[in-house]
Amino acid sequence: MRRLVFLGPPGAGKGTQARALAAELGVPQVATGDMLREAVAAKTPLGLLAKRYMDSGALVPDEVVIGLIAARLAEPDARSGFILDGFPRTVPQAEGLERLLKDLGQSIDRVIVFDVGEGELLRRLTGRRVCPKCGAAFHLVFASPKADGRCDQCGSALIQREDDREETVRTRLAVYARETAPLLDHYRDRHLLSAVSGEGEIQAVRRAIRRAAGLPA
Ligand code: ADP
Ligand code: ADP
Ligand code: ZN
Repeated sequence: MRRLVFLGPPGAGKGTQARALAAELGVPQVATGDMLREAVAAKTPLGLLAKRYMDSGALVPDEVVIGLIAARLAEPDARSGFILDGFPRTVPQAEGLERLLKDLGQSIDRVIVFDVGEGELLRRLTGRRVCPKCGAAFHLVFASPKADGRCDQCGSALIQREDDREETVRTRLAVYARETAPLLDHYRDRHLLSAVSGEGEIQAVRRAIRRAAGLPA
């Protein structure tokens, strides 16, 4: 079970769990949001294009993210597995992924969807603080860093993401319901979907994911 997809609304805990599990399994965490934010920070043509969509809480066009993923999965470190975090987010992206994997002679082992209620998502996203350097996520109340305002991993000053303001968060939740939630049926039909409750303690969610993925606790 080394080719996993983490699916779920913004704030569900995908990044937190993907980072930890990827490190444990020795496979890359492939997070399109992180890749896009790097492109934005570097002001590449791709970043400039993506920024407009991201700032408003909309999805970046399918062909753009599928292109990013195609290049990323072709890298040697992704050969023995990966955790896709935040991709696919639309049915056309899922279809693009299937074509890519087919060409590589690979397939998805399991898709894990995180169930978290809307009130909890709002609390998580508005309190989220992230490390601009290494991408680690913290929370003012639920997952506070050891030193106030500093990343546990690399010591950088933590920031609030532009799109974690409440107004943009509401747009992102609506985009999830409209464009990403249809993927649940897509993967259920393919017998790949496992749902876990994303609402417990971080360690409890971690155990539920390992069970769902058929990994030893
Ligand atoms: P979150 O962790 O809150 O779910 P992400 O970091 O995954 O957010 O994504 C931030 C933004 O980046 C999204 O709102 C969207 O604009 C863009 N993005 C990330 N992944 C994708 C994707 N697979 N397809 C389209 N847009 C994406
Ligand atoms: P996603 O990648 O799905 O958008 P994150 O992993 O960034 O979600 O988590 C969103 C916020 O919620 C972060 O501030 C994170 O520290 C916090 N968080 C993650 N998992 C939990 C949990 N099980 N309980 C409480 N807060 C959590
Ligand atoms: Zn850091």
